Amino acid sequence: MKPKQDQLNVIYESPVPVSDIDIRALAEIYDEKDIYLSIYFPLSGRENEHLNSIFLDSRIKAIEDALSPVFRSQFEKTLEMVQDYIYEAPVSGEKGRVIFASASEGFLHVYRLPVEPEQAMVLDTSPFLLPLARLRADYQDYGVLLVDSREAKFTCIRSDIAEEKEHLSTDLMNKHKKGGWSQARFNNLRKGAIKSFLSEVADNVQDTCGQLKTQGFVLAGPGNAKQQLMDLLPKDVQDNVLAVIDMSMDISRDELVEAGNAVLHQTDISRSSQLADDFKNALLKGGLAAYGVEDVRAALEQGRVNTLLILKDSSVPGWICERCQNLQANALPPKECDRCNGPTSVVDVVEELYELAQRTAAEVEFMEKDYFPDSDNMVGALLRY
Ligand SMILES: [Zn+2]
Repeated sequence: MKPKQDQLNVIYESPVPVSDIDIRALAEIYDEKDIYLSIYFPLSGRENEHLNSIFLDSRIKAIEDALSPVFRSQFEKTLEMVQDYIYEAPVSGEKGRVIFASASEGFLHVYRLPVEPEQAMVLDTSPFLLPLARLRADYQDYGVLLVDSREAKFTCIRSDIAEEKEHLSTDLMNKHKKGGWSQARFNNLRKGAIKSFLSEVADNVQDTCGQLKTQGFVLAGPGNAKQQLMDLLPKDVQDNVLAVIDMSMDISRDELVEAGNAVLHQTDISRSSQLADDFKNALLKGGLAAYGVEDVRAALEQGRVNTLLILKDSSVPGWICERCQNLQANALPPKECDRCNGPTSVVDVVEELYELAQRTAAEVEFMEKDYFPDSDNMVGALLRY
C-alpha cells in the first residue's frame, strides 16, 4: 500500500520515545519495487560519527552496485532527500536516528531517538522495521511509584527518559505534633493521617494509570508504606504492579531508571518463559500453535496468529515474490515466482513475518534463546483458532 497523504512527511525535531512511533502504520506501506530506504544509526560521540560515515558509505556503494541504472538514479534521489538528516548534529538527548525515505513516493520520516539503535541501511520494498521493533521490545513504557508515609512521586519512564507525572505530599503529622497530646494519642493520629494520605495516593494512582498507557508500574520506597499502599489499591490496579522494591526517596533519576529497568527485565523473562510454556503445551496437544517459517507464514496470512514468537536477534535469509507475496526461507530467489511468475527479491524472512504480524494485529514477542523452545526454527506462533 502507498503511504497515506498525511503520512508522507513525519519529521521529529526532538527525541521521541520508541513507543510513540506508529509501527503499525509503517508496516502497511509497501511497493512492488525496492524504493524504500531505511537507515538506522547511533549518534553519541565523535567515534560514532566516524563509524557511521564509513558504514553508510560502504552500504551506499553496495546498494548502488546491485541496482540497475534506472533504480540507481531513483536511489540517488532518495539519498539526496535524506542527506541533511544523515549529517545533522544530534539535538539534546538524541542518541540515535532512524530515517525512512522514498523519493518516488515523496515519503520522508525522520525519528530522533533517546536510545541507541544498531547501524543498518536497507533498500527494500517497504520500510525496514525489525530494528525498531526490537528497540520497542527492549524499551517498554512503565511507571515507578515512589512512596513513603508522607510523600508520593509517580514517574513515567519511556525509552529511558524519566518524567515525573504526579507528586503528592502531606505535612499533617507535623501539624498534629504541636497539639501537645499524649504519645499514644499522637501515634493514633499519625497512623490515621498516614492511612488517609495513602488512600489519597491510591485514588490518584488509579487515575494516573488510567491516563498513561504503560504496561504497569514498580511500587518502590523505604519502609512499609509501599506495602500499606499496595493493600489499599483496587484489585485491577494491584494487577498492574510489576514488583514491590525497596528504594530511597531521594534516589537520582538515573538510579531510578536503572532499578526500574532491572525489574522490567525480570518481568520480560517471566513473560517469555510463560509464553514458551504455552507454546510447548500447545505443540504437545497438537493445538493452537504453529512453528517453522512455512506454517507460521500461512497462519499469519490467514489472520490466525495471536502471538508471533521470534528468537531474539535472529534473521532468516530468503526471498519474496513482489507480486503475490509468496515467501520462501533459506533459498536463493528464482528468476520468477513459481506461483505467479512475478519478480522476486532477497529478503530477511523474519522482517517479512514481523510486517505480516503488524498488518494482522498479532502481538509480537522477541524471545531470549534460553526460553525459545525450538531454536532451529527461529519463529513460532500461538494461534487464535
Ligand atoms: Zn508470486
